[in-house]
Amino acid sequence: ASGGPAGADIGSQKDRVVTEEEWLQKWEMGNIGFHKEQGHPLLRKYLDVLLNGRSGLRIFFPLCGKAVEMKWLADMGHSVVGVEVSEQALKEFFAEHGLSYCEEPVPEISGAKKLQSTSGNISLYCCSIYDLSSSIVGKFDGVWDRGALVAVNPCDRQRYASLMTILMKKNSSYLLVTVSYDPNKHKGPPFYVPESEIKTLFGNHCEIKCLQKVDDFSDKHRQWGLDYFLEVLYILKFVA
Ligand code: SAH
Repeated sequence: ASGGPAGADIGSQKDRVVTEEEWLQKWEMGNIGFHKEQGHPLLRKYLDVLLNGRSGLRIFFPLCGKAVEMKWLADMGHSVVGVEVSEQALKEFFAEHGLSYCEEPVPEISGAKKLQSTSGNISLYCCSIYDLSSSIVGKFDGVWDRGALVAVNPCDRQRYASLMTILMKKNSSYLLVTVSYDPNKHKGPPFYVPESEIKTLFGNHCEIKCLQKVDDFSDKHRQWGLDYFLEVLYILKFVA
């Protein structure tokens, strides 16, 4: 995970691109090893850090897939907004939780749809995150970013971070899960995002604290050719 001149430590991942079409195919093929049916233990553990004593928050799930944590937070009385290119993922989310929803076009974004739970507290945009703006989705009190920044093509990270910065209210909190492994041994996604890069991407607008590093190494990672795999959790506090 180290060595080489600054900026070179993500190895050949720097130039790797996964297209939207490839993501849609992963969903069609059921090639979704990233999905966690039981939800993410780090969100359970650090929920208080995200909420910070507040209730009725607007919480954003970038690149949401069918993350079950959206249901958890909605059930706690928060209002959840997600964005995902795969309509299949979003439909599976509602179906697997037995939630009814309605669909409407998003006038500002050609081809985009919004799928909203009938109860109104879960709104999922089916489009690219890069099509969103604060005039369309508003601003957020909190973000759960797992499988999102690490799924963004490395060449798009700055664009992604700038957009996230625009979508956050002042004093909002952003829980960010990254992964750490030897990027010369696996092409990703998920992509390795070094801590130095988190600082470059968000340091001008946020206080950044690393909350925990978790050994998440499993057989899957061994098959990828890796010999270690960590999840690294950060809390970003938007100060400006
Ligand atoms: N956060 C989810 C999904 C992680 S996989 C989880 O933790 O389970 C990354 C997801 O991002 C995929 O479902 C993929 O279809 C979606 N995606 C990729 N590029 C995207 C983009 N530009 N805009 C919106 N969604 C995108």
